[in-house]
Formats: sequence, structure tokens, C-alpha cells
Amino acid sequence: MAEVRYEAASRVYPGSPPVRAVDGLNLTIEDGEFLVLVGPSGSGKSTALRMVAGLEDVDEGAIRIGDRDVTSVPPKGRDIAMVFQSYALYPHMTVAQNMGFALKLQGLSKQVIAEKVTEAAKMLDLEKYLARKPKALSGGQRQRVAMGRAIVRDPAVFLMDEPLSNLDAKLRVETRANIAGIQQRLGTTMIYVTHDQIEAMTMGHRVAVLKDGILQQCDTPRALYDRPDNAFVAGFIGSPSMNLRTVQVGNGSLRLGELNVPLTRDTVAAISRDGLSEVTVGVRPESLSLVAAGSPNAFDLVVELVEELGADALVHGAVANEPEGPRLVLRVDGRTPPGLGQRVRVVLRDPSEIHLFHPETGDRLI
Ligand code: ADP
Ligand code: MG
Repeated sequence: MAEVRYEAASRVYPGSPPVRAVDGLNLTIEDGEFLVLVGPSGSGKSTALRMVAGLEDVDEGAIRIGDRDVTSVPPKGRDIAMVFQSYALYPHMTVAQNMGFALKLQGLSKQVIAEKVTEAAKMLDLEKYLARKPKALSGGQRQRVAMGRAIVRDPAVFLMDEPLSNLDAKLRVETRANIAGIQQRLGTTMIYVTHDQIEAMTMGHRVAVLKDGILQQCDTPRALYDRPDNAFVAGFIGSPSMNLRTVQVGNGSLRLGELNVPLTRDTVAAISRDGLSEVTVGVRPESLSLVAAGSPNAFDLVVELVEELGADALVHGAVANEPEGPRLVLRVDGRTPPGLGQRVRVVLRDPSEIHLFHPETGDRLI
């Protein structure tokens, strides 16, 4: 077990212009922590992971595992085990042979290998399949074999790159919980890559959000959701996404449709400090609710789409009198959703539930 540390680590692919796939990353993953790297496609997640594995050069900065600087240590010497999206199982070997292969290379005795493989197989519910070849397994079972191969090596760090993306939705949810449970039981430091923010939020002790190779924020799922550092994180974390729009500010308030949202004194101070006449305001879909027509301190919305999810429904629409404006989405009770084309009355549950960002930099104002 070990802490992993990125120290101003960069990976720059040559070209014109060069691609800074990972750009000056500073991040410490604590011993025993489950850290998720999340971001859109091309944000540098795989590159960042492969830098720890030693599969990618570190062009600037350093990588440490435990008390060792491993920046120029080859993959074999790093005491890590990686699980890839493709699983990369050997087709001609049985499950047991696949799982024990790395141990065989290490020269461990047959008996020790068999013990370790059996123990991992128990953990992964694979005991019945040890004699099968990968082609005789379901996708979920293959995924577990790939996990098993990492577990038997008892590494200091697990590295996983989108290990669930080949599974169907239901299996993905189950396997998510299994992986988190196994990591918890073993207490092995984990760096887990996914583009799926729900996977990130449900699995990680902390989640590091990347965009264009640059770390945007690293925090607990709750903190990322409640206090995103910038408009990108605000929009990326949460499903459906936070409503974000740039609006005029003045006289200590901002306007959402016909609604005046009062701003706190600290917010007003931050806005005038930066000399802003407009701000980007963010409102989560659950921070808006429906009220009776004509209610005060509310605004009208023209419903354009209703997604019924069962317990709740998502109502998408345009603010009345702003037909060209950005669309808003709100989460409402699923039993009484409004109809298409209907004009509904919407309130902001609590003015303190808005998020304010700089209209150009996207940085959180306060
Ligand atoms: P992610 O895993 O988040 O989708 P990657 O780490 O694979 O992103 O890629 C990050 C960036 O680096 C992308 O812009 C990608 O095109 C670029 N990149 C990845 N591998 C190479 C390579 N071998 N040569 C040049 N550019 C690369
Ligand atoms: Mg990737």
C-alpha cells in the first residue's frame, strides 16, 4: 500500500503545436484512497493513469509511489497492477492460468499461486469458472477475471482505465459496487479512470476532474456537487446538468426571467471587486420547483420536453418571454408532471442555492 503523488507532472506529445495531454498535474492520492479521475473524452485521464503505470513518459515533473520517485522506473518495478478497458486476457489460458500468470513469472510455487488465485476467485465469485477459457465467459465474468489478475499480485496501487465500459448498464451498476467493496476490503490505493460522472461520484472517496489535461478540482463527491470551483465542474458533475446562464447583475440582485434573485452582501462585494456587470449563474434542477400559477417571486416557463423517470420527472423549457434564451431543466414530482406546451410557474427554492461564476474565466465568485 502506498500514497501516489503527481508533482507538477506533464506529458507533452510532440507535434505542431505539441499536445499537453497532462499539464502540470499536482495531486496526492492518499494511502488506501479510492481516487477517480473523471473528465470528457480527450481530457488526459488515460495519459495521467499511464504515467503512474510507467507506460507513458513524464516530460516534466515527477511521479512518486510511496517514498520512491518512480519517474524513470520501468513499469515492472513500480508495484502497480493495471486493469484495462479491453481486459487483455490470454485466450488460450484458463481463468486460473490468466489470474496466476504474473505470479508464475515471479517464480512463485504452484501451491502459493493456487492459494492466491482461489482466494481472489472467492472474492470475485469466480470459483466455478477457474477451468474455463475466456471465450466461454460472459462480459461481466471476463471483467472479474481481469480484476482477479490485478488482485492476486497484491500491488501497492491498482490502476483501472474504464474497466466497466464494455458492460451493459445494469451490470455496470452492480460491478461498480463490487469494485468499491473489494477496494475497501483490501485497502489498496486505487486510481480509477472513467468518463462517467455518476460512476465517479458513486465510487470515489475523492474525484479529480480533468479538462484539457488540466486539473479543475479534486474533492469529495459531495463537495464537488455542492461547491464546484468553476462553471466547467458545475456543468460536468450532476445529471441532468446544472442550469448555467449568463445574466445581468445590478442593484444587489440578478434576474431569472421576471424573477429578481437577491444577492448576499458578500456576493455583491465579489461582483463589484471584479467590476462585473454580468455573471454566470448556476442553478441545479432540484433547486427549482413548481408553484401555483401567478405565485409571486417566481417566473413562467414554457414546457418543451418532459422526461418521466418514475419517482420524478425532468421538465425542460424556455423562460417565458425569452424564447431564444438557454433552456432550463427542473426536477419535479413524477406523479404530476406538467404537459407539453403548458406554461408553468417556477420558483427558486432558496436564493442561497444559486452558484455564481465569472462570466469569462468561469471561476467561482465566492
Ligand atoms: P482520455 O483518456 O481522457 O480520453 P487521453 O489521455 O487518451 O484522454 O488523451 C489526452 C490527449 O492526448 C488527447 O488530446 C489525445 O488526442 C492526446 N493523445 C493521446 N495519446 C496520444 C499519442 N500517442 N500521440 C499524440 N497525442 C495523443
Ligand atoms: Mg481514456
